[in-house]
Amino acid sequence: ASSPALARAEGLIREIPDYPQPGILFRDITPLLADAEALRATSEALIAPFAGQFDVIAGIEARGFLLASAAAIVAGTGMVPVRKAGKLPQPAVTIDYALEYGTATIEMHADLEPGTRVLVIDDVLATGGTVAATLEMLEHLGYPVCGTSVLFEIEGLGGREKVDDHPLHTVFRND
Ligand code: AMP
Repeated sequence: ASSPALARAEGLIREIPDYPQPGILFRDITPLLADAEALRATSEALIAPFAGQFDVIAGIEARGFLLASAAAIVAGTGMVPVRKAGKLPQPAVTIDYALEYGTATIEMHADLEPGTRVLVIDDVLATGGTVAATLEMLEHLGYPVCGTSVLFEIEGLGGREKVDDHPLHTVFRND
């Protein structure tokens, strides 16, 4: 990490073995969110590489909402929720995608002005399926995507390769 605040923030990501199922090392960002300095430093780090390149931030349910909202305040933009199926009153697009085990569905509204430039934010990049589906949905709606910013990248699962047709920035990774 490139600053003392970011180094501290990285230390506040808690590792929970075998959650939510055996073999998964869950990265719990709630201690980081609870810390004022860490929340500010990570919000700034998420948006820094894309300064001036986006008009709104799309946050992926659920922990992506928290980071996207904080980052949007720092950036001076609004945020748009990318939701799991069945939560939005007027979804414009619905996309099904594969997970490690099973499938998932995400939806979003299409209330942005045409041409609105979007930055995508989520907490963890694992296989990349969730971010890839989000990028596909934004492209389908015709919104230009400047890139994706993720707090924690789990390397070795092919996530980066799956989403790096757009610029990808990750603040921390398991190296
Ligand atoms: P994927 O689509 O495989 O990249 O999974 C990413 C989504 O699942 C993100 O929205 C994460 O919040 C969540 N996720 C996957 N793996 C983990 C993990 N090891 N720790 C915390 N969250 C995870």
